[in-house]
Amino acid sequence: MRRKIAAGNWKMNGTSAALAELEQLGTSLPQNAPTVIICPPAPLLFRACEAAKGIAIGAQDCHMQSSGAYTGDISAGMIADSGATYVIVGHSERRDAHEETNAMVRDKAEAAWAAGLTPILCIGEALEDREADNTLNIIGGQLAGSLPSDVSAENTVIAYEPIWAIGTGKVPTLEQIIEVHDFIRSRLIARFGEDIGNAIPLLYGGSVKPDNAATIFKAENVDGALVGGASLKASDFAPIIAALA
Ligand code: PEP
Repeated sequence: MRRKIAAGNWKMNGTSAALAELEQLGTSLPQNAPTVIICPPAPLLFRACEAAKGIAIGAQDCHMQSSGAYTGDISAGMIADSGATYVIVGHSERRDAHEETNAMVRDKAEAAWAAGLTPILCIGEALEDREADNTLNIIGGQLAGSLPSDVSAENTVIAYEPIWAIGTGKVPTLEQIIEVHDFIRSRLIARFGEDIGNAIPLLYGGSVKPDNAATIFKAENVDGALVGGASLKASDFAPIIAALA
């Protein structure tokens, strides 16, 4: 059975007051809770690790180098030093606003491994790709270009996030989600073999809310969610976690 994961990406939201949400979330976890991960802004990482009970902490990005003259960036080793255990790499907002390429995302995933972190590696198509019926080509290219070859079920999580669904309230149909997740699974099996390919957790991300989570989690190859807006409040994220438990 694959690991179930509910991951929250706070993006550039939240100051230290938001740690109260983390504490509240920790007290509301169901008994058979999936792996729950919160990725707060970088300045909150150390305190989030102290405040989190039963919740893993992740960062939202890391640099591919371990140190050096990279003003404003943070390394995977710094993230690990905070006590965090995960890092999102290749989020579409980074690929877009920071012009991150597949090769850069692959290097970041390898930097995460070198520091003992698990990357949550994001892929997803733009609206024009979807409308041009080019989704699977884009997803296949991103998988081939950004997934390093040493992937295992323990060291990597993949998140499929259609860009047009992120923060928009628009959610693909269950059939569309199933089609892409089944395709990703088949590509993983083709490249890494049955054992690894079948065991890597695949998350769906894009406007997951308490009222649509249970439907999305029905898809066989959806092992959880990467959640933006609805992870900011414990009262919104807790029912999403419960839908996965
Ligand atoms: C995200 O940013 O990864 C995301 C899925 O955001 P939202 O849930 O707000 O669409």
